[in-house]
Amino acid sequence: MLNIVEIEHLTVKYPDVKALDDVSFTVKEGDFLGIIGPNGAGKSTLFASMLGLNTKYDGSIKFFGQDIRKSKDYLKEIGYVPQKPIFEKNFPATVNDIVRMSLRKEANEKKIDEILQQLWIHELSNRRIGELSGGQQQRVFIAKALVNNPKILILDEPVTGIDQQSIDLFYSILKELNSKQKITIIWSSHDLDAVNQLANHVACLNRTLFFHGESDEFFENDELVKQYSEASMQEHMHHH
Ligand code: ADP
Repeated sequence: MLNIVEIEHLTVKYPDVKALDDVSFTVKEGDFLGIIGPNGAGKSTLFASMLGLNTKYDGSIKFFGQDIRKSKDYLKEIGYVPQKPIFEKNFPATVNDIVRMSLRKEANEKKIDEILQQLWIHELSNRRIGELSGGQQQRVFIAKALVNNPKILILDEPVTGIDQQSIDLFYSILKELNSKQKITIIWSSHDLDAVNQLANHVACLNRTLFFHGESDEFFENDELVKQYSEASMQEHMHHH
């Protein structure tokens, strides 16, 4: 299988802290990669660098074999779901508006309809985004990310304000997108159990890459999971 993403010796230094230290890994076509790591582990910095939003890094990032410093074409193949933004209750845009905004070609009603149905938000199409629950808004943002048929979906998992039922639906949608539509998924999460269930590859990040490999290889190794949990817990306490 093709290497869709190749990250080599990625290092990002901010004035006070080295957010990423010599991180290397690859993602193959069709992979479902779960990136786990405590707060401050460098997950957002990694995503910002992959999306071309942070250009001050050492090392290299390639998508489809091409260095992202040379061409921004790869961005057309990426759907990005950020952590949940907060909308005012009266924010003047409907679900349909929000999804349509991202459509690159001329508005294609059929495509929008199809995606809204697939994400169980079709009925909410004409509702204002700010009136929806956290889980519903999350699905609107997945719809927005999918509307241009991306090959890769990158998700920064929202952790607040989402009820368990919506979380379960969110996970089942991710699973379907990966297994049926063959979309490569790169997803950061705090939920080790969910990563264990959904992802086939795992990257444990804590500024350096603690582990990268097959999900089973990590989760079936109790010692490794314990080591990682302890290390990230210490890091967490250190920062709070
Ligand atoms: P995560 O997403 O895993 O919580 P981040 O990438 O946001 O981690 O942060 C990693 C480290 O880099 C943290 O110590 C954070 O304070 C620091 N950091 C993140 N963004 C910036 C920035 N723009 N300027 C300076 N320091 C930053």
